[in-house]
Amino acid sequence: MNQTEGRLVLPEDQYNLDLLSHVHPPDYRNPTPASRYNLVVIGGGTAGLVAATGAAELGAKVALVEHRLLGGNSLNVGSVPSKAMLRSARAAAGIRDCADYGMKIRNGYEVDFRAVMERVRKLRARIAPEHGVDALRRKGVDVFIGTGRFIDRHTIGVNGEKLKFTRAVIATGTRPALPKIPGIEGIDLLTNENLYWLTELPKRLAVIGSGASGAEMAQTFARFGSEVTAYDITPAFMPGEDSDAAAIVRQSMEKDGVKFLLGVKDMTFSKSGSEIHVRVMEDGSERIGAYDKVLMCAGRVPNLEGLNLESVGVKYNEQGITVNDRLCTTNRQIYACGDVASQHKYGHAADAQAHMVIGNALFFAAHRVSELNIPWAIYTDPEIAHVGVCGALPARRGLETIQLSFENSHRAILDGQDEGMIKIHYDKKGFIRGATIVGSHASEMISEIVVAMNHRVKLGSLASDIHPYPTQSEIIKQCGDANRRFMLTPSISKFLKWILDLRR
Ligand SMILES: Cc1cc2nc3c(=O)[nH]c(=O)nc-3n(C[C@H](O)[C@H](O)[C@H](O)COP(=O)(O)OP(=O)(O)OC[C@H]3O[C@@H](n4cnc5c(N)ncnc54)[C@H](O)[C@@H]3O)c2cc1C
Repeated sequence: MNQTEGRLVLPEDQYNLDLLSHVHPPDYRNPTPASRYNLVVIGGGTAGLVAATGAAELGAKVALVEHRLLGGNSLNVGSVPSKAMLRSARAAAGIRDCADYGMKIRNGYEVDFRAVMERVRKLRARIAPEHGVDALRRKGVDVFIGTGRFIDRHTIGVNGEKLKFTRAVIATGTRPALPKIPGIEGIDLLTNENLYWLTELPKRLAVIGSGASGAEMAQTFARFGSEVTAYDITPAFMPGEDSDAAAIVRQSMEKDGVKFLLGVKDMTFSKSGSEIHVRVMEDGSERIGAYDKVLMCAGRVPNLEGLNLESVGVKYNEQGITVNDRLCTTNRQIYACGDVASQHKYGHAADAQAHMVIGNALFFAAHRVSELNIPWAIYTDPEIAHVGVCGALPARRGLETIQLSFENSHRAILDGQDEGMIKIHYDKKGFIRGATIVGSHASEMISEIVVAMNHRVKLGSLASDIHPYPTQSEIIKQCGDANRRFMLTPSISKFLKWILDLRR
């Protein structure tokens, strides 16, 4: 579909050549396989890299198979390049809003998109060696570049070589979903796999899908100066999110100029010269938009093709590989982790699961995914971060909720970033069961809640922990204070008053 399909990375500048020299060295020769491996890992993204290096560091004989770019989505076409772009977009918004902070820019400002993308490639190349062939070999992993496929219950084939294993891990990740939209075959679609190849800013951009990735990129391109329209078939923006949180982010994105067409039906694409027309029905009326580029952010599909899973008894469905709570597949010798086997499609979740797999597959551990508190963040401005229960679930489970606006945070007020809020859900004993934070540093702040949940620190106890003033995380302490005030029941108040009266 894309003219550049089949290419590993573009443009071929010094930074991308540097990247490739680590993650897919052009002159690389696969080693001679060992007679048998303790562990063979298919997929060299976050999950595969962590499983392979962790196991090798413990003394296992390990092989890792990757057919495209070591580092997977996260390094090459996901977290790393997207967050580098977001940072530039935040800088652009800072300059745009500088009058709010008492600054004047006399001759206007301009976003140099080529320079933005060069910075993305430069920073990605800087991080790449951590994920590269040399780093893996230094840790004792045999790296095979090629497509892995099960030959039988004890053997994985790659480029005609046979890798015998005692245990195998499938960590083949996901790729962008391409919904069956009429006309889709005729257009050069952008997905996360070729987005970072851009060197020209699209003047008009349609973003299909208003989930985390779609929202992050819609805001980013709008801040760079593209006219952005975000489409979604669901009527709600960020349908999986807390609705109050989504509303705050939507308002901020609208300020950035993003237009929303939500709850649309009957989408079709067509081309007219270099323009792409997106036609939808909205509330019974036809809407046609003309764009230079269309970015597809409509979900992910698992990479399962060609693995020959049937022959080794590994079950799967359209969501991914079927695993039990210990990440074992329906074949006891084969485990799966990361995006291909998880509803939590985040780098840190893939990392945590890969650590579990090492213990469960190679030793006698029984780590369970259900025991993990996995936080997640959306890096829009303001950010959204979560851990534990959220949305309608806390009310359904009979949990209590404390909610405070960032208008209560001196730091947020002073920074001019008081659009945000925190919600903490807790049970009758005061143990935290979940939280949602929306604010400029939400992704950093959520970790305090994760620590409290993992170490069973009650919400009220957080009030005793001193937070530096003025910081946004003080608002977590304020939630603790509020919880303590709720604990002050009429009978406790009466008792305290009785003591005070006695001691007067
Ligand atoms: C645009 C975007 C932004 C993101 N931002 C964030 C973020 O900010 N924070 C966050 O935590 N997460 C983020 N994520 C998610 C994160 O990238 C993934 O959760 C993470 O990459 C999952 O790692 P993985 O190893 O499971 O899969 P992947 O990274 O997909 O790696 C799988 C690897 O397996 C290889 N492979 C597949 N089949 C075979 C085969 N048969 N033989 C050999 N190799 C094979 C693939 O080439 C790939 O390299 C983002 C994702 C995207 C798309």
